[in-house]
Amino acid sequence: MEQHEIDQQIKDFIAKIEAKNPNEPEFIQAVKEVAITVIPFIATKPQYHGMKLLERMAEPERAIIFRVPWVDDNGEIQVNRGFRIQMNSAIGPYKGGIRFHPTVNLSVLKFLAFEQVFKNSLTTLPMGGGKGGSDFDPQGKSDMEVMRFCQSFMTELCKHIGPETDVPAGDIGVGAREIGYLFGQYKRIRNEFTGVLTGKGLAYGGSLIRPEATGFGVVYFTEQMLKTINQDLKGKTVCVSGFGNVSWGVIKKIDELGGKTVTISGPDGYIYDEEGISGEKIDYLLALRASGNNRAEDYLKKYPKAKFFAGKRPWEVKCDVAIPAATQNELDLEDAKKLVANGCMCVTEAANMPSTLEAINYFLESKVLFSPGKASNAGGVATSGLEMTQNSIRLNWTSEEVDARLKEIMIGIHKACRDYGKEADGYVNYVKGANIAGFVKVAEAMLAQGVV
Ligand code: GLU
Repeated sequence: MEQHEIDQQIKDFIAKIEAKNPNEPEFIQAVKEVAITVIPFIATKPQYHGMKLLERMAEPERAIIFRVPWVDDNGEIQVNRGFRIQMNSAIGPYKGGIRFHPTVNLSVLKFLAFEQVFKNSLTTLPMGGGKGGSDFDPQGKSDMEVMRFCQSFMTELCKHIGPETDVPAGDIGVGAREIGYLFGQYKRIRNEFTGVLTGKGLAYGGSLIRPEATGFGVVYFTEQMLKTINQDLKGKTVCVSGFGNVSWGVIKKIDELGGKTVTISGPDGYIYDEEGISGEKIDYLLALRASGNNRAEDYLKKYPKAKFFAGKRPWEVKCDVAIPAATQNELDLEDAKKLVANGCMCVTEAANMPSTLEAINYFLESKVLFSPGKASNAGGVATSGLEMTQNSIRLNWTSEEVDARLKEIMIGIHKACRDYGKEADGYVNYVKGANIAGFVKVAEAMLAQGVV
């Protein structure tokens, strides 16, 4: 097929997606990124022609939207909206997190569910893709309010999930506390103790290393990327955004491997700690988080030597490695230009779709190492997959066992991205590699299963 025909196919495909999903900018962005790299690949595979594989993948198998009424501490009735997007079950039960955040809407969850399909495929574990959540904001709510909300949410959700159907987990705003309340309500209604959720507490079927897994996986992936240019993390300066669960795991592992993290951020701005965030400072991040607030500025209360930059993002700080670990679209073209100009050699996405399409293109054109979240942050869901395995065999593995498997999976994902993403000049386009490698397994399963 001629290049201009492929370009036309991409244009037509994106036009259809835009027409079919108006007012869903995040979803369109995620599909575009995949289409640009996967359509040229499909063009080289006659067995895929006419099968409408990408069209089918961009249409959720099912999208459930439901009312979540609950009563707050003042006795007032509150109404939130709940969602579960069951995107693709070709290679296993739907699997993916639940996000509680005021920005949650259909577009955000469809983009996350779409990304999850590719990410889960990359892990090589048998997991389809899904995502759910609510516009509920746990910030500033009491434990009992969070519990009542979770119970109401699960009262509806439990009709649509199960260990062989759909296995949710955490995401932004959903951590160990929320998973506990959700699990308790599922068990109560269904009268079943099963591995229906992952990210559970250790006392009731959770896996060791799951809390750290996303962050550890990101750093294992970064190590592999750096290795391709004969570098490692020792002595490298790293800028990290966010200070939630993922950033915490990232910073902990970077510290272990001899790198120096100098930034964290919150919705209020970023912290620059020239001395590096290590040792007890990392534990303090957890304590800050546990106090139920997400203000990065509070880091100064304990470490006043650090600097706080209100309303800014950390990408203006000179670093060797940048790890966006907060949320979608937190790194735009201007940020990308600053990072490259400052000599950044590697950008590893830890959040889901933190870079805009323009930023990604800039990184690729500049030939810096760049990995999309669906590859580099897959360690979280991969360890969820390991939690499901442990639940099924009714055994718990040690930290060392889980960590070793996680590392092996991240090395495998890196290899798959490299195999499909290596360009003529030797540069690895991880975006292309991740999209194609993720696509192939799902596509093969869909082909085998007929038009369903
Ligand atoms: N929310 C995480 C992600 O974006 C983890 C999902 C899971 O463990 O199912 O991949």
